[in-house]
Amino acid sequence: MLKKVVQNRRNTKTKQMVMNVLEKSLSALSHEDIEQKLTEKIDRVTVYRILNGFCNDGKVHKIAGDDGKTYYSLCRHCTAEQHNDNHAHFLCTECHSIVCIEEPLAVQPVPKGYNVSSISAFLTGTCSKCNSTVLDQDRI
Ligand SMILES: [Zn+2]
Ligand SMILES: [Zn+2]
Ligand SMILES: [Zn+2]
Repeated sequence: MLKKVVQNRRNTKTKQMVMNVLEKSLSALSHEDIEQKLTEKIDRVTVYRILNGFCNDGKVHKIAGDDGKTYYSLCRHCTAEQHNDNHAHFLCTECHSIVCIEEPLAVQPVPKGYNVSSISAFLTGTCSKCNSTVLDQDRI
């Protein structure tokens, strides 16, 4: 009984650590990114389990990067019942960061007989951080 309580408490703490990493990040993070940023070593399987749990709870959504990796980003308007992540993602070609564009995407007209359940889009270009380094270099 007592052991279970301790175990639960540790799980909560671990979950909170992963959530902190995601909350602090301005861009979506891959599994490796998250592992690296954790202040305490958490095994890979546990991190996966926590991330999947967040996805099921409507707290985090997955983004498939162009490098084949899965990236995780916080949800803003989602619940455990329904994800509402119909927004575009901006992929920076310089630093390869992925950020959520919060503006909802307009649903395109689809042929008769088709049902849209979710939409996603990637915008590529250079992010504000990379653009400002270019500006800084110009100034020198
Ligand atoms: Zn979501
Ligand atoms: Zn960038
Ligand atoms: Zn997103």
